[in-house]
Amino acid sequence: MNMFPRDQFSDILFSNSQFVNDFQHSELTGTARKGLAIVTCMDSRISPLAVVGMQAGDAKILRNAGARVTDDVLRTLVLASYLLGVNRVLVMPHTDCRMASADEATIHATIQDQFGVDTRSLEFRVTKDQEAALKTDINRVRAYPLIRKGVSVAGAIYDVKTGKIDFKNF
Ligand SMILES: [Zn+2]
Repeated sequence: MNMFPRDQFSDILFSNSQFVNDFQHSELTGTARKGLAIVTCMDSRISPLAVVGMQAGDAKILRNAGARVTDDVLRTLVLASYLLGVNRVLVMPHTDCRMASADEATIHATIQDQFGVDTRSLEFRVTKDQEAALKTDINRVRAYPLIRKGVSVAGAIYDVKTGKIDFKNF
């Protein structure tokens, strides 16, 4: 049986055929040409490359709920720093983030109330103090012993209303 839910993906099939027709990136390699990795949120308002004036081939993009530095982000940054040309890391959460609007218990309770599902076996890593979380996450990257020496790490909050990134002095 064919399991591919074609009807739900028909717009993507169509758009990709257009993309293939106009494809410009055949010459790119997997090395980040601008040496940058961005850790940001899954929020659909953020176009990470556009925010920093870059294009395909320039930067590594790591995304998750809340732009948190998880073990998997560290794993990926280790690989990127040794093998894929990354020498600077920008951790970039954003304003109006659902993951910075409530504490962990409240998010679990919201899902329980609306869907009847108990998600408490997951740690969502939400925070009500976004700046403190960002500082912790930046220090987590800086202090991680397996990241390549000399990698620069900065934090900034992306404003979804203006597009500006506000670099933090830590
Ligand atoms: Zn977010």
